[in-house]
Amino acid sequence: MPKIALGDDISQYHSDPMTQTIEIECFGDDYDNVNATGLALEQLHKDLARLDLPYFFVKIITTNTDIERELSLLHKIHSTEPGPLEYELVDGVYDKRIYNGDSKCVLPWIHKYVNPQGLVLTCCVGNENSPLGRIQDKNLEEISTKHVRQQMEAGQRPSECYSCWRTEDLGLTSSRQTANQSFNDYNSQTSFVLRHLDIRLSNKCNLMCRMCSGKFSNRIAQEEQKLYGTTKYKDEVLSPNLVDKQLDFIRNNVSTISSVYFAGGEPLINPTHWHILDKIKDPKSVSLQYNSNLGSVKKIDEYWPRFKKVEVNASMDSVGKLGEYLRYGTKWEKWEENLHFASKFAKISVNPTVSVLNIFHLKEIEDWCKFPLYYNILTDPQHLCVSVLPNELKKSIKYVPDNPHLKQLLNVDNSWLFPHTMSFILLQDKIKNTNIWDSLPFTSYAIQEYMKEGI
Ligand code: SF4
Repeated sequence: MPKIALGDDISQYHSDPMTQTIEIECFGDDYDNVNATGLALEQLHKDLARLDLPYFFVKIITTNTDIERELSLLHKIHSTEPGPLEYELVDGVYDKRIYNGDSKCVLPWIHKYVNPQGLVLTCCVGNENSPLGRIQDKNLEEISTKHVRQQMEAGQRPSECYSCWRTEDLGLTSSRQTANQSFNDYNSQTSFVLRHLDIRLSNKCNLMCRMCSGKFSNRIAQEEQKLYGTTKYKDEVLSPNLVDKQLDFIRNNVSTISSVYFAGGEPLINPTHWHILDKIKDPKSVSLQYNSNLGSVKKIDEYWPRFKKVEVNASMDSVGKLGEYLRYGTKWEKWEENLHFASKFAKISVNPTVSVLNIFHLKEIEDWCKFPLYYNILTDPQHLCVSVLPNELKKSIKYVPDNPHLKQLLNVDNSWLFPHTMSFILLQDKIKNTNIWDSLPFTSYAIQEYMKEGI
């Protein structure tokens, strides 16, 4: 029976079918905070999922007296196996290394975020596996960020902010670092005072963008239901009662709010969004920020001029026909018209989400764009992340913008997921009667490398 240390590469012991159990010795690990799960133990769970290696063939040998809780949490997040990994507790000291450094983020002092399902998170990149609460269970006012602030003040990394820690561990700029710059004025605030709001009232959306999910688009949720007979998200419209509770929270804090952020579903087609704007008593002291696909620009000329400042991150992923395919439901000419109309009342920036679907066409966007352009680099869903492209295809990309995150992902090899990417594209083309496949330089490569054997 092979015995390895936690952190060693388990894939070399993986065979199909498995013939022996692997014992993994775990005598110490790094932790984001005192209640977190070990990072190497978590990586092991991710590797097991990636390799599709059954838990039955893995056993943890450890001195960690908290192992049962950690394994149970990691099992819930990373696996569909019937139960957590088996373990054996042995005598000895466990080296629990807890992070101690700069982890302070201004957002838990000034902000709360409610996602379209009613989960309250530290911000829009907060950890859904570690929510602050649910507005279905408690008023937003009562859902506190206090424990997050306390951990940050102690130099630990709260689990609620998982994605920022992993981003920083990769040497990249995290949302925390960006937020600390953007909200610099409030960095010395010592208790919670609401300054910035980010409330997404539903997943109601007019489009079905390829890289999105039912979580943020009810039309995609309906498609998932049709295709798979089930979806996690159907029409995620919060009940009027829950919307009212949020409006109360806004009403109670309206005197301190200086900016409100609206994003998807698509905010400009959501009646509650206008209702919230009506609640803001002194619009000249409040800035609005939007992520919008600008599919509808009705009423913006009536509302936006009342506010101090309006900024719009306009979503688009490619120019012309491919743009229509990727943000399915878009009519390109109408969209360009809406963009120019919106630019009369708001400061516009254009935000393409970079994925395998448009990485070969970014130069066309830059040539077309007359507004400041900021790329979002997609990492989820993983099968659309540029890291899945096989090396040969990566080398054929003629133009790569000077974006460190993008460049870094192009150096990661997740090409084992590429067959899944192709299945996804083919399926989407079939059900939407589109032709993305021919707009991408995959076809001959895919036929040569993959199609012969079947995806
Ligand atoms: S640390 Fe990151 S996840 Fe946490 S509140 Fe700040 S930006 Fe959001």
